[in-house]
Amino acid sequence: MLYDVLVLGGGPAGYTAAIYCARAALKTAVVERLSAGGQIATTEQVDNYPGFPEGIGGFDLAVNMQQQAERFGAETLLEEVTQASLSGSVKKLMTASGKTLESKVVILATGASPRSLGLPNEDSLRGKGVSYCATCDGMFYRGKEVVVVGGGDTAAADTLYLTKICKKVTMVHRRDALRAGKFYWESLKKADNLEFCWNSTVDKIEGSPVSGIVVKNKNTGEEKQIPCSGVFIAVGNLPNTGLFENECELTEGKYLAAGEDTKTNLPGVFAAGDLRKKPLRQVVTAVSDGAVAAHMAEEYLTQTQGL
Ligand SMILES: Cc1cc2nc3c(=O)[nH]c(=O)nc-3n(C[C@H](O)[C@H](O)[C@H](O)COP(=O)(O)OP(=O)(O)OC[C@H]3O[C@@H](n4cnc5c(N)ncnc54)[C@H](O)[C@@H]3O)c2cc1C
Repeated sequence: MLYDVLVLGGGPAGYTAAIYCARAALKTAVVERLSAGGQIATTEQVDNYPGFPEGIGGFDLAVNMQQQAERFGAETLLEEVTQASLSGSVKKLMTASGKTLESKVVILATGASPRSLGLPNEDSLRGKGVSYCATCDGMFYRGKEVVVVGGGDTAAADTLYLTKICKKVTMVHRRDALRAGKFYWESLKKADNLEFCWNSTVDKIEGSPVSGIVVKNKNTGEEKQIPCSGVFIAVGNLPNTGLFENECELTEGKYLAAGEDTKTNLPGVFAAGDLRKKPLRQVVTAVSDGAVAAHMAEEYLTQTQGL
């Protein structure tokens, strides 16, 4: 089967592209390795996406987007893409289950993944005390002592959430002030079970399951042990662009080099959402990219295939 459009990634960017493509009567499928929603499905509450005065649960928003796309005929293929061949006029996506999916257009919407600290035992401790998503895993640490590493909006939001359910939260940040917005700062100041550990980096994670961390003060070199059962790492994201790096032009930070028109260096290949180089990575900008990419896909198909 040759699709008009394959959308790789079922986050907000991918499903919005699918809504627009399917409504334009293009044969469209979203290829997603997990379940609909991408990063947003892991957050409890989305308060800044317009149209929901009381906010909406991240999972609910994700499922709504999927259902909306499917209402217009878009398919969801639950497959992990392990290889891509995007240069020819027929684009090919190879899956972990051994399938080759073919399409005239591909919209890349694989988003981003959390950045790790790079500590030797970090990966093996995932699920044993190391987490990258407080709203997903926070409840496992109810009444316990935890650490949040990072100083941006995500770290602050995670900390705020964890102070409500954990006995004590220590925020470890490599600078002497948070990068997070004023709203978070004002809210964090009110939490009486929160401590800050400034100018510090994590040197070691101890125990399996986790029993504590060792931090090093950047200015004094002094080391300190902080007992905890959970370490929530919120130090930014990495774009999921490894699959395309041989064919697509990437920026320095490995984001896809595509402008506001979502066009990549390859004809018929468009990039939407968090994987694209842009100043703000949010649901509202991801869905905007998805709509633009679908529009560009339609234009490309009209020019090249007379569709
Ligand atoms: C904890 C958290 C809270 C957030 N809160 C907010 C908020 O309140 N408001 C807001 O606006 N934004 C928020 N964001 C940011 C927002 O979630 C992202 O900007 C948005 O999800 C980006 O959408 P996307 O479609 O580009 O990518 P993603 O959401 O990352 O989706 C990409 C999808 O592609 C899939 N995929 C990747 N590689 C493959 C592959 N090889 N094969 C198949 N599928 C693949 C992934 O499984 C994923 O489902 C939050 C993010 C996090 C992590």
